[in-house]
Amino acid sequence: MDIVFNCPHCGLSLEVDQDAAGQQFDCPTCQKMVTVPAVAAVPIKTTLVGNAGPTPSPIEEKRMAVPVSQKPVESLIQKPNKSLEMAAKESKPGIRVTTIRHSDCKEAGKDKFDEVVSDFLNKIGDQNLVSITPINYSYLDNGSQKLFTDFGVMVIYRG
Ligand SMILES: [Zn+2]
Repeated sequence: MDIVFNCPHCGLSLEVDQDAAGQQFDCPTCQKMVTVPAVAAVPIKTTLVGNAGPTPSPIEEKRMAVPVSQKPVESLIQKPNKSLEMAAKESKPGIRVTTIRHSDCKEAGKDKFDEVVSDFLNKIGDQNLVSITPINYSYLDNGSQKLFTDFGVMVIYRG
């Protein structure tokens, strides 16, 4: 088996017999003293490149093995949806209270508070209305996680 290596002075590729390892001789091109390496230079380089190559890191493997958490999106957009119609249509007579909150009357960016209150008052009828009381309340916005102050009305009526 031959030892293949490059002359450290001129870079010439040299090929000598394995038995010449450790011996010194003059480079045929640059005439400078060259020492034959114990192990072939070129194969060593190849081996080094192979070692430095991408070896699977245990950390990366672990990270890839972690399953992607799939939280149900529905829980984020849940919305209290109290049916005002249901409250107005209850048949049992008596004094009833319904609170209409401004923040519950926004649909697709449209403020329908006045409309909702008007509809509700028309439904219960003029003669059944006892009182309307303005209220203030705070609520936590699901999207921004901020506390907002809003208003609404508490309607007391006979129904
Ligand atoms: Zn040389």
